[in-house]
Amino acid sequence: MCRSIDTKVIDSRSAENGRSIRRRRECIECAHRFTTFERASYQPLVRKRDDRLEPFSADKVRAGIEQALADRPVPAGTVEALVLQAESLFGPETSVVSAAAIGDTVLAGLSATDEVAYLRFASVYKDFTGASDFEREMAAIKDRQ
Ligand SMILES: [Zn+2]
Repeated sequence: MCRSIDTKVIDSRSAENGRSIRRRRECIECAHRFTTFERASYQPLVRKRDDRLEPFSADKVRAGIEQALADRPVPAGTVEALVLQAESLFGPETSVVSAAAIGDTVLAGLSATDEVAYLRFASVYKDFTGASDFEREMAAIKDRQ
């Protein structure tokens, strides 16, 4: 089995009740044969801090943002706008985005929206363990202003 990326398809059939296509491929360089399962639908994935991949869930992002913004005086549509910002990290060429990038995007959006919500989200996202974490984050906010 070589590292060639040139392959030809020698057989192609529907699999997983039509959710993917099973392709039998042959390497043009060395004639090694292998099977691929190609999913027709695009599946955005999130790479967690421990490197595990999990399907991107807009609902999960929305829940985190709603929790941070609970009872805060922000305009209607703020939550959806922030969820959309997170979703827009994915594109046709980008099906895997790190959880850190999503968290940073939400944090940037919240810091421009509401300081309390920003700190709430940061405390969960950055695993704050004590008052000093909040003080450091407050100082960082002040520096940006
Ligand atoms: Zn080969």
